[in-house]
Amino acid sequence: MKNSEQWVRPAIRALAAYQVPSAKGLIKLDAMENPYQLPAQLRAEWLQQLATVSLNRYPDPECVRLKRRLRTVMAVPEQCDIIVGNGSDELIQMIAMLVGGAGRTLAAPAPSFAMYRLISTITSTKFVELPLQSDFSADAKKFVNLITASQPCCVFLAYPNNPTGNSFDTALIEQVIAAAPGLVIVDEAYHSFSGKSLLKQVAGHPNLLVMRTLSKSGLAGLRLGMVVGSPEWIGQLEKIRLPYNVNSLTQISAEFCLQQQHILVAQSKQIVADRQKLFDALQQMPGLTAYPSDANFILIRLDTDFDATLVHHKLKQHGVLVKNLHQCGLHLDNCLRITVGTDAQNRQFLSALEACLVPQTRR
Ligand SMILES: *Cc1c(COP(=O)(O)O)cnc(C)c1O
Repeated sequence: MKNSEQWVRPAIRALAAYQVPSAKGLIKLDAMENPYQLPAQLRAEWLQQLATVSLNRYPDPECVRLKRRLRTVMAVPEQCDIIVGNGSDELIQMIAMLVGGAGRTLAAPAPSFAMYRLISTITSTKFVELPLQSDFSADAKKFVNLITASQPCCVFLAYPNNPTGNSFDTALIEQVIAAAPGLVIVDEAYHSFSGKSLLKQVAGHPNLLVMRTLSKSGLAGLRLGMVVGSPEWIGQLEKIRLPYNVNSLTQISAEFCLQQQHILVAQSKQIVADRQKLFDALQQMPGLTAYPSDANFILIRLDTDFDATLVHHKLKQHGVLVKNLHQCGLHLDNCLRITVGTDAQNRQFLSALEACLVPQTRR
């Protein structure tokens, strides 16, 4: 019986490995990537920087220069410390390893970012859903009651929320921070599109951590996330961070790109303007509801006579890949999530969608 059945925990055996669909030949509007690259001149300068890296040496284990730059660019409060990770996914895992485990509970809204639940499962931490209302807003009383009853070691709040795009009220977040017996992690993955942040509040709340990532604002390939918190909490997290978790190429590339922050900021501004155009066009389109978004994606729900899975499939045949969220969680039936692309990509998507909302895709 030297097989996996004997040793792999049942909770892991029940999982399927995370699938990323191929986007070959398709307009890729499924993963909240920034559609723009750095200008050619800057790419050349970046390559010169990369050439200086000593690949035979381990990376700087403390990421000193990178953290210094992050501190300045993000205006991290002086009293706070920073820890960096191989994407914020790794930081979520580190937080779950630090405070989760058997007999512990992690809580997050439903629907929200799928990784919170997956990482709970992987770390043997019980997962408690905080159900959102059907308009995706959060009911403060319901949240506080569930948190009081389940006493989670940590609560994750994506701000704005993925896949719904809305930002919870700061009053609700304050209530969650007050009611939570443990950590509250405000996940600001979409900060560059929302302009909203709780970073300034971190120093005033000993149980609050703010998480950011460079992924959605143009550097998904680097895999760099960060958590800001009190020196006490960050110090505990440092104990379980594997040495050299952020590689040399990522460190030097992120440092370089953060020096060119104005370009990433201009790209985000463009995406926000195009989000509005896309939203207006979707609102005009019969057969669906579009939900307002603070992020770089828009959630839509097709009217009940259409079948989202069929429409998703047809959109692919028209050369556009979006995310099908049908049966992916509470209140997501018949929903698709569209990443805001370039203006040309958005228009191609809109005409493809129009062509797909036909009698053949009705139930
Ligand atoms: C995309 C996303 C992340 C993951 O970010 P990485 O840094 O690429 O791992 C984290 N949180 C939310 C809410 C996201 O949507």
